[in-house]
Amino acid sequence: MPYFRVNAKCDGCLACVQNCPANALRADDSGVSRTLLHNMARCARCGNCWRVCPQDAIEFQHFLHGQWDEVTTLTLLRCRICNEPLYTAGFRENAAVLADKEIEQLCPRHREALPSITRAHFFPAGKIPQEGSK
Ligand code: SF4
Ligand code: SF4
Repeated sequence: MPYFRVNAKCDGCLACVQNCPANALRADDSGVSRTLLHNMARCARCGNCWRVCPQDAIEFQHFLHGQWDEVTTLTLLRCRICNEPLYTAGFRENAAVLADKEIEQLCPRHREALPSITRAHFFPAGKIPQEGSK
């Protein structure tokens, strides 16, 4: 769902486009159509477009919902002994391929979670979890 929304009062004056400091708005004129486009990756949510719009057409409240949007849901594996969350099923499969052996579904407390070769692959240098760390 787009965050930048306008109501029926928008008359395409382009004041918002001309006053956006982030170049997050642009208009495409094609044939007999003018299309207003917004790029959320560039938008700073500064509200300038909303302030300058002479038609009071921008529904800025949608910028402010601040909700968490679900991106993906994966299968989570837990320690077979204490039920502590470990990693996803996909992560475990990839780790098993890299380590060339089955990865035990156990937390660090009950067994070393991942072989060092796998940990070095998945965690940047200097950020490899130490034994016993949380
Ligand atoms: S400033 Fe308001 S009326 Fe003008 S194009 Fe932008 S949203 Fe539409
Ligand atoms: S909120 Fe600010 S950065 Fe985003 S479109 Fe409006 S003027 Fe541009």
